[in-house]
Amino acid sequence: MSKIEPQAATILPGATIGMVGGGQLGRMFAIAATQMGYHVVVFTGSADDPAAQVTPRVVTGDLLDRQVVDKFAKQCDVITLEFENIPAQTIQWCSQFTPTYPSPDILATAQDRLIEKQTLQDAGLAVTPFAAVDSAAAVTAFAEQHGWPVIVKTVRSGYDGKGQHRLQNPANAEQVAWDQDGDWIAEQCIAFDREVSVIVARSSHGEIRCFPPLENRHRNHILDVSSCPATLSPEQSEEAISVATRVAERLDLVGVLCVEFFVVDGERLLINEIAPRPHNSGHLTIEACYTSQFQQHVRAVCGLPLGCTDLRVAAAAMVNLLGDVWPATGAAPPWDRALGIDNASLHLYGKTDAKPARKMGHLTATASDLAAAIKNAQQAAAHLH
Ligand code: ATP
Ligand code: MG
Repeated sequence: MSKIEPQAATILPGATIGMVGGGQLGRMFAIAATQMGYHVVVFTGSADDPAAQVTPRVVTGDLLDRQVVDKFAKQCDVITLEFENIPAQTIQWCSQFTPTYPSPDILATAQDRLIEKQTLQDAGLAVTPFAAVDSAAAVTAFAEQHGWPVIVKTVRSGYDGKGQHRLQNPANAEQVAWDQDGDWIAEQCIAFDREVSVIVARSSHGEIRCFPPLENRHRNHILDVSSCPATLSPEQSEEAISVATRVAERLDLVGVLCVEFFVVDGERLLINEIAPRPHNSGHLTIEACYTSQFQQHVRAVCGLPLGCTDLRVAAAAMVNLLGDVWPATGAAPPWDRALGIDNASLHLYGKTDAKPARKMGHLTATASDLAAAIKNAQQAAAHLH
């Protein structure tokens, strides 16, 4: 049941949107919003951050400094965020001045893996079997029911596989630093056929639209390749879209949200996790869809009609560029070689410190069939090594 007021304000181009967070998601959002004629104020730690580089209006400071938050929020007609792990306090302060999306309630859900899974399960949606654990004995008890291996994750603050352990046996479980890093969740290790995601948008007027499902391949728990269309049956696609729609409704979403799924036994969909924001797997929508996930986010929080999410090409694939691509000498990778591949687009996030496993940019290739799109994106990335 929607709690959104149908008369929520429509915020037209020319107004000012606040973006809390200065990473690549904030950057691509700011580019999309600026293209549409909005002003964007980025609130982040440093004026060198990826999003701060693309707008003249930047507020730098501590997200928990009340005075800085007030200075930022007073400039904005609407505020949104790039990342669910923004402190709840910051969002509460922002929303005292300006409509702020997603709501503090959604953030509280998405910041805590246990609350998130419980909320989805209570809504009748299938999630990976899970339990709260705080010791090797608790993991062993969980494994007696669900089998080894078990994946344990920190309940809060994890991203890109950080804070995750794959435990094969009770001895492995003894090695986890149970007293550090806060609370832990155990999950059954799912022997999935594939991973897919659906990005859903819901506007402040309650309109909902989903992008076509994306298929995702991870390496070391970090997204490596996303492609579209996903290799799902029409029924599975419909099911994934229907689940994402129910999540958006259930959470009273305003903005964009990604639902990540495991496909099991060739047919069943289990929700892995949700992220209430544009998502790495949706970066290919910039080149591949009539509306990108970032433009859709702008439309959703400003109460504009949502854009068409259909593919405007036959197929597309995206490969993440991690810091590992940079030579140890510190020289730039041979970008010109990657761009020699047909229909390859390069996105770099303006990060200077190329650490291993750090997301520095991505390459997207569009093509007339899925295999060619994946091959071209991977070849473009391979040229960098
Ligand atoms: P991100 O923010 O990049 O999505 P995250 O740190 O929140 O990452 P998850 O999505 O929970 O992490 O896990 C990252 C990847 O690790 C998954 O996409 C999947 O490939 C693998 N993984 C995580 N949990 C499980 C599980 N229970 N069973 C099997 N594989 C898993
Ligand atoms: Mg994930």
